[in-house]
Amino acid sequence: MSTPFERVAILGIGLIGSSLARALRRAGWAKQIVTFDANPDHGARAKALDVVDEAAASAAEAVAGADLVIFSVPMGAYAELAAEIASHLAPGAIVSDVGSVKMAVIRDLGPHIPEGVHLVPAHPIAGTEKSGPDAGFAELFTGRWAIVTPPPGTDETAVRRITDLWRAVGSDVEIMEPGHHDRVLAITSHLPHLIAYTIVGTATDLEGTLQQEVIKFSASGFRDFTRIAASDPTMWRDVFLNNREAVLDVLQRFTEDLTALQRAIRWGEGEQLFDLFTRTRAIRRSIIDAKQA
Ligand code: NAP
Repeated sequence: MSTPFERVAILGIGLIGSSLARALRRAGWAKQIVTFDANPDHGARAKALDVVDEAAASAAEAVAGADLVIFSVPMGAYAELAAEIASHLAPGAIVSDVGSVKMAVIRDLGPHIPEGVHLVPAHPIAGTEKSGPDAGFAELFTGRWAIVTPPPGTDETAVRRITDLWRAVGSDVEIMEPGHHDRVLAITSHLPHLIAYTIVGTATDLEGTLQQEVIKFSASGFRDFTRIAASDPTMWRDVFLNNREAVLDVLQRFTEDLTALQRAIRWGEGEQLFDLFTRTRAIRRSIIDAKQA
């Protein structure tokens, strides 16, 4: 097992950043945790909640002397923030993140990482539709996957320290090629969010009385989509803009399958519908068996 970190700088102390701070503290994996958040209220709130030891006034101040820096901000903020901290990173430090898309991390952070500093991107497959430091909790990562996506040639000790960190906060870890991660997440996470946003958007555009009834009878299925569609707009805008190709590819396939279903309904092809619904039911069972339900 690797040694825990001395000073961890968490940039962005919202749902994921503050959950990680809590979990690292509980696991004894950070002697000191300092944050910088663009929203000073969030930094101050995290300090008041005793989730961090210090809320720094700038990102440069937060990362100074840190042996681990974790980006936990929306992905659209990565490049600018990386440029800001680059010359303040300590030699030998590890820079990691929790972002939902991984090729974009290498694109946006990679060029700013100085010689002797190690970039080890990661993505916890855990979250809720809530935001901000009050929404976080230490158990968020327990029993959930954390995918670690080191670029080729990354220092092995740095990769091991990050995988050990995620195990220490209760996650199961998988190492994955970053492009593969983005294709997997496009279907398992990004497309479902897009569908939820679309359905709820369609309902919002319905005329008055129908819209009221959608709310009233939402337990018939609609409700489950509204939870997903309540996810943070900034975060999800950035996910789609940063995983454009993989999302468009999977969306193309989805649209074709939807058209095939449309046709089956129009022509009364019940067998086709029944076969599909039987196959999808089996997927649900395997998710429950894998304890991911
Ligand atoms: P969040 O709760 O909104 O937290 C992000 C925090 O970063 C907010 O306090 C935000 O302030 C702050 N921030 C924004 N721009 C900043 C900047 N340039 N410098 C410093 N702080 C900045 O979001 P989150 O859910 O924790 O998401 C953070 C990251 O985790 C995202 O990259 C996302 O892809 C990833 N992730 C999220 C989930 C999930 O389910 N939520 C799951 C896995 C991974 P304001 O609120 O004032 O903008």
